[in-house]
Amino acid sequence: MKKSVVSKEYTNLQKEIIKLQEQWKQSLTPEIVKPSLDKAAIEAGVPAAALTAIDFDIPLFLQWIDEINDLISKQNPEQGPRVKKLGELLDSETAIRWIDEAFSLNQFYFVSFAQENEIEEWIPQFFAETALRPYLQLVAEVLKDEITQAIPGLGCPVCGEPVRLAQLEGEGKKVVNCPRCLAHWSEKRVCCSHCGNDDHKTIQNITIEGDPTSQIQVCEKCHGYVKVIDTRQFISKPSSAILDLNTIHLDFVAQENGYTVSARESESN
Ligand SMILES: [Zn+2]
Ligand SMILES: [Zn+2]
Repeated sequence: MKKSVVSKEYTNLQKEIIKLQEQWKQSLTPEIVKPSLDKAAIEAGVPAAALTAIDFDIPLFLQWIDEINDLISKQNPEQGPRVKKLGELLDSETAIRWIDEAFSLNQFYFVSFAQENEIEEWIPQFFAETALRPYLQLVAEVLKDEITQAIPGLGCPVCGEPVRLAQLEGEGKKVVNCPRCLAHWSEKRVCCSHCGNDDHKTIQNITIEGDPTSQIQVCEKCHGYVKVIDTRQFISKPSSAILDLNTIHLDFVAQENGYTVSARESESN
């Protein structure tokens, strides 16, 4: 199994970014998030972060945007000038808009922002998302005792990210992990996170040659997949953000075989 499907530069940059996000999150205090979990809304699948008031520190958000700028310019000097321009475009008002739009994953807004300001299309959303994550991670941490399960097909119960990663714990219990907000919750071992199918005849595990700790659980009903990593023997357990990155080759295998993480039951298509 070839692991080198993504460039080393990409992986290194992502790892540096995850490190930055860990530091940023450390600097936040839990008091800035005020969840108001409405039971009916949670049951209807509204992500908990959307039901949480977050006291964003805008100057700090802008400082983080600068730090991402510095990191990218340092790692990839030819990106520098193209990325640098962003710092000049962002004032407090735009930063607030960015947070809102990143929160609702409004790709359309960021693409038009990039076009209007003649910067590369990936840049605005990537930056906004990167600086938003520590806040989402704080929400997940504050709610860890309250959010203990998810509704199949609706993604992460905290941030709404599509499910794609789980770890085995204890006796082989499957714990789904969100690499975006780092929330985690238990799920039946034979169960599709995307449609709730728990029929063992239509849930298969793709094994990876030479990698006994990795499996891809796939569902023939909705064509969804989840990477299931047995980290019980790992000497040090990486964060789920790092684990997701280290297992990106499994996403390629799953997708090459026609499975996705935004799967829906075929009848609703
Ligand atoms: Zn999440
Ligand atoms: Zn399914």
